[in-house]
Parts: sequence; structure tokens; C-alpha cells
Amino acid sequence: MKYVLVTGGVVSGLGKGVTASSIGVVLKACGLRITSIKIDPYLNMDAGTMSPFEHGEVFVLDDGGEVDLDLGNYERFVDVTLTRDNNITTGKIYQSVLEKERRGDYLGKTVQVVPHITDAIKNWIESVSAIPVDGKEGPPDACVIELGGTVGDIESMPFIEALRQLSFSVGPDNFCLIHVSLIPVLGVVGEQKTKPTQHSVRELRALGLTPHLLACRSAQPLLDSTKEKLSQFCHVPAGNILNIHDVPNIWHVPQLLQSQNAHNAILKQLNCLRIATPPHLQEWMKRAETYDNLTNSVRIAMVGKYIGLTDSYLSVVKALLHACISCSLKPSVDWIAASDLEDESAKLTPEAHAAAWETLKNAACVLVPGGFGDRGVQGMILAAKYARKNHIPYLGICLGMQISVIEFARSVLGLSKANSTEFDDSTPDPVVIFMPEGSRTHMGNTMRLGSRRTFFQTPDCVSSQLYHNSEYVDERHRHRYEVNPDVVDKLEGAGLKFVGKDESGKRMEILELSSHPFYVGAQFHPEFKSRPGRPSALFLGLVLAATGQLEAYINNHQNGS
Ligand code: GLN
Repeated sequence: MKYVLVTGGVVSGLGKGVTASSIGVVLKACGLRITSIKIDPYLNMDAGTMSPFEHGEVFVLDDGGEVDLDLGNYERFVDVTLTRDNNITTGKIYQSVLEKERRGDYLGKTVQVVPHITDAIKNWIESVSAIPVDGKEGPPDACVIELGGTVGDIESMPFIEALRQLSFSVGPDNFCLIHVSLIPVLGVVGEQKTKPTQHSVRELRALGLTPHLLACRSAQPLLDSTKEKLSQFCHVPAGNILNIHDVPNIWHVPQLLQSQNAHNAILKQLNCLRIATPPHLQEWMKRAETYDNLTNSVRIAMVGKYIGLTDSYLSVVKALLHACISCSLKPSVDWIAASDLEDESAKLTPEAHAAAWETLKNAACVLVPGGFGDRGVQGMILAAKYARKNHIPYLGICLGMQISVIEFARSVLGLSKANSTEFDDSTPDPVVIFMPEGSRTHMGNTMRLGSRRTFFQTPDCVSSQLYHNSEYVDERHRHRYEVNPDVVDKLEGAGLKFVGKDESGKRMEILELSSHPFYVGAQFHPEFKSRPGRPSALFLGLVLAATGQLEAYINNHQNGS
């Protein structure tokens, strides 16, 4: 196994995740089978309990792992399917060590950070890196490990020490360290400053790790003189100093690395130049350029609870991008705080209320993404009602689907108090209820998580056609509540059809509204499996419908062209 470790210095938010994913793309293009590990030095066991408002979205994997959003970047860039164990956190490591301690596995020894925590980290990395993630048999060739945070953080010390030991035990031919750093430009002189990078490399070296390559982030391309200085003071050959300057979109990064021969430098360090092929990144280049040159756009109203931090819905935004690009359109996402649409807001914040409604009315389609808690629910219901009544294409994801059921029950079935028991425990008309897969009395682990199969109930619904007429589809889930099976007949009788269900027929997975151009709800999260070249079916449907191309697309597809 060859290890490529990506560390970060100077500041956080440098785009270490994109750099690490792009390195994965370039190495994959050289014929290597790639896997990746993200290390998050926080104490949480996983990202499941972390607020998307602070930390960005919780990404969900096939195996139900709730992980850091960087794993989404890896899956999208390298096109792999990762496991929950590919995300290591301090919490997971400590838990495994403490469990062993309780079992008495340490035979009376004092349990310490070194060697017990560091050994656990090394063993975890070695065993997880061997798991195939590309659908093929046998271990991958190389594992890209991204260490979260910045070198020197107290939290990451045990990981740095474990990685130092790992680099020693696997030997120099199997370990390549790439340090991502920032080259700021200061003041009127506009000089590219190397000192922060020098300091962070010094810090790394003091901890026993020597970078083989530097990946320098900067606004403008690095000057040769800056590179020379970096080389001299950081002890890294000039040819191994990569520059990731600002680019119009992140899909340029793999090509930017390739143009600087990053692959050769990495492969040489890993002693695998002989087995590698020249990288072909034409597809990435084409995609990046297509994106830059798009002129037409489509306005998508995103009605959500969190709109301050767009990373809260990162995969939804990416899935919209993939779908739009495949239709030669630029997505123009208009964020609407659901609570601004509510009647209450008309009284309290009339300007925000008017602006939110104006934005909604100017959009070509409406998307209500997933969410938890009742904030903004009423506003989402109003958005779903507006889309339903005005024949505006609508996609409701998870909570967004539940919202459309509540709205339909209230407005069409006349059940004015219909609700989800998540928001109103004592509603007389519970149309969305808690349906755990396991125990009803045990509150822990009650989320329905990960890949589950949805069976289409009829071949002539839009969703099945968008999914290329497959009989079923496997998508990822993350929810507790579901449409109450007891109200399905009533809803269907009034036109809200459940066209996708689980194998038992009791869980409603996809809904469609007959006599509407595109009104679709999915209990699963299709955004997690969308890929740059393979847009997710339902997102594609939304964009096609928003631009009046859905019918033509389906007809073409039915004719096999
Ligand atoms: N809060 C809802 C539930 O638990 C929806 C979850 C979601 O949108 N991910 O079922």
C-alpha cells in the first residue's frame, strides 16, 4: 500500500479537501486504484450529531455512516464508494482503545496516548486502506489520507505521531507527504509571502515529518522567485512545489496539478513510475471549461432552514450543478429562509417576507431539501403549496417530501391539522409518523440510515423513466419519520401517487402528483450519489422540467436515443 498524506498549514479552509481529492483524481488517471481516509481530530464519534449550520452538511454513505462532507468530495471526484471507517475521528479511536481497556486486553499495562492511541490509529489506517472502494476485488494501490485541521493543533498531535511512525514503518518508497499551505500577498508592495509556509513546514519537521511536496494556495500564480525561496527554506525541490492558485471552478484543480507534473513527483516518491500510465484528464478539462463558458442559467429556489452557510446543503448544491451542466445550464440558486415566507414574518419582518416571496415567484423551480426540527416548516409548506398550485416544478427531499404530504393533506383532503408527529405529537391527523426499522421503545439508533432499495410501482411514472426504467433504485437515507401507511389510499385517491415504495410496500419512497408538470418527493437523499458526469435522476428531472425539456428528454429516452 502506498500512502499519500495531505496535511495543512497556516490557516484552515485552504481547500485541503479539494486538493486531496484532486490528487486522487490525478493518480487514478495514472491507472492507480485509489482509496481515501479523512481524519477529523474532534471528539465526536461521527458527524451525525454535528450541526450543519456550523460544520456543513452531514454526508451519508451507503453503509449508513454519517461522515464529514469531505468524504462527499472524495466520492464525487474519485468516483468511489467509501465506508464509515474511511472517516477516522478522535472519538472513534478513543472508543476502540477504551473498549479494549475495559475488556482487559492491555493485560494490566498503563494505557497511554503513545503507544496505545497511536497504535490504534496506525492499525485503523492500515486495515481501512485495504478495503476496495471502486467495486473491484482486492486492495487499492494507494490511499490518500487527509489530516483535518492545521499542523500544530493540540488535537491532531496523536495523529501526527502515528503518521510519523507509519511513514517510518512502511518505508520511504511507500509514503509521500504533501503539505498544503497559503502564500498570502501583503500590502501595497504585493509581495508573495513565504514566511507562514516556512513556519508551518518547520513545525511539521519538528514533529518528525518531512514534506515531499508543497501545494501552495495563492490568489495569483506563484512567481519563480517565490518558489525558489520556498524550496531553499522548506527543503523541498523546486519541482515539487505545486501551486494551486485561484481557478474559476474546482474542476480545474486536477488539471492544474497535472500541468505541474504533480503526478510524476508523487509517483517518483512512491517508486511507482513504472506501473503508472500518463494521466488522461480530458474529461475533467472539458467539464471545467464547459462550466466556465455556460451562459444560460436556470433559477432554482432553495427553501431551507439553514441558508447562512451554503455548505449546509453542499451535496444538494453539487447535485444541482451536475444536473444543470448536463443540460448546458448554469445553476442560479436563490436561497430562501423558509421562515421568511411565513405569515408571521409579514408582520415582524415585512421586507424579508416580501423579498422571499418575490424570489420564490421569480424562480423556475422549487427545491425543499432535508432537515430536522420545526423551524421554517410552515414556510416550506407554503412553498410546496405555491409550487403545486402554480404548476412550478418541485422537488422535495426527505423533509421536503414530508412537507408536500402535509400540505396536500391540509389543502386537498381538508385535514387542516394534518402534521408530522415530529412537529406535533398530538395531531389528530398524523400523516407523517415515526417508523423505526428496529425497536419503537428504544430511542437510540432509530434513524433509518444508508442505502435502501426503492421499487417502482408502475413503469409509467416520471421518476422511473428518469431512472432509465429500472425496476428499482438504491439510494441513501437519513430520517426517522415516514408517510403514514394508513393515509396512503386517501392521498392517492386525491391524486398524490406513491410511485416508489420499499420491498414491504409499507414505506413510501417516492411521490408524484398527477396533472402537474413535475411535482416529486423522495424520502431518500438522491444528492449523495450524484456525480459530475452522472447527474442524479431526480435533480435532472427538476432542471429539465424547469426549462421545459422534460417531455422531450423522456420521449427521446423511450425511443432509445
Ligand atoms: N426530520 C425528518 C425525519 O427525521 C426528515 C429528515 C431529513 O430530511 N433528512 O424523518
